[in-house]
Amino acid sequence: MKFYNNKTRIPSAILERFLVAAGRSVGARTGKVVVKVTAGRMRGLASEGFAVYEWHLRNLKSRRRGRRILGRAIDTDGGWFHLSLPVDPSPGDPLTLAESVWNLAQHEWGHIRDYQAGGTRRLTFSRRGGNGRRPDHDSRPEEIRAERYIRESHAAVAAGKKRAADDEILALAVWYEEQL
Ligand SMILES: [Zn+2]
Repeated sequence: MKFYNNKTRIPSAILERFLVAAGRSVGARTGKVVVKVTAGRMRGLASEGFAVYEWHLRNLKSRRRGRRILGRAIDTDGGWFHLSLPVDPSPGDPLTLAESVWNLAQHEWGHIRDYQAGGTRRLTFSRRGGNGRRPDHDSRPEEIRAERYIRESHAAVAAGKKRAADDEILALAVWYEEQL
């Protein structure tokens, strides 16, 4: 994983192990995927592509002679994603919060797995229909697949075929608890 930047107070060592484990749990290749993490309301956004410009990662608005400065192109394996994570654990239980972050990370990695498998060229992605609108977010084929990868990972753990990521999730939960 190419941890482009970590703008949260969560230590990078904790986040990196956590995110790599989440990617592996849903069958993504994690080695060259670019990940950006910022602090905020919990949400994620995955994008398909073999390279990402620094501009996307930094969200620089600077322009030179009327052109956006794109910065360097960083290669990635299929895509990149941005996670926005809460750094304030209250209200709620740190373990529940760490588990929700895990679920979100698995979901974004699920999209990356699809991009690595050929993405929009090979798999079914939702398109605008005759009414010009895409289906509701949750019923899009790519969202249904990402959720299926998560269910399959839980089933594999339950069947003893995959290791549970208890240590990685607990490490994040402990960090959240320390912030209370
Ligand atoms: Zn999604």
